[in-house]
Amino acid sequence: MSNKLLEMAVETLKENGVRMTPQRHAILGYLYSVTSHPTADEIYKALEGTFPNMSVATVYNNLRVFKDVGLVREMTYGDASSRFDANMIEHYHIICNSCGKIIDFDHRPLNEIEEKAETITGFKVQSHRLELYGICPDCQIRSNQ
Ligand SMILES: [Zn+2]
Ligand SMILES: [Zn+2]
Repeated sequence: MSNKLLEMAVETLKENGVRMTPQRHAILGYLYSVTSHPTADEIYKALEGTFPNMSVATVYNNLRVFKDVGLVREMTYGDASSRFDANMIEHYHIICNSCGKIIDFDHRPLNEIEEKAETITGFKVQSHRLELYGICPDCQIRSNQ
């Protein structure tokens, strides 16, 4: 699965005139292998053993390249570090208020809320972001102990 995604990523980069480098390969491979929506810093820490000369700035710059060509999504949270998601299929997120983990869940896109917002506000809606917050199963177990 992750190899197929990487092959497709190489193609997408090539179409956009971006060269696949070993570092880019490793960053994308890492993103495809986790569901944790890591920050640039977390990706850096996971890969610094393999690429001792790589900096957080390099990771961040490569993530920006991936974002520009549509391979990853950046999720910003005010002043906190952005989180990155390589799952480009429409999906929603649920976030644990206790440990901060972000989990994907599938749901059909809520187009009717976009239409309703357009009718009410006169905006031309381009996208929406919906996040649910709660306590994850692990944290529920921990708090019951
Ligand atoms: Zn939790
Ligand atoms: Zn996600």
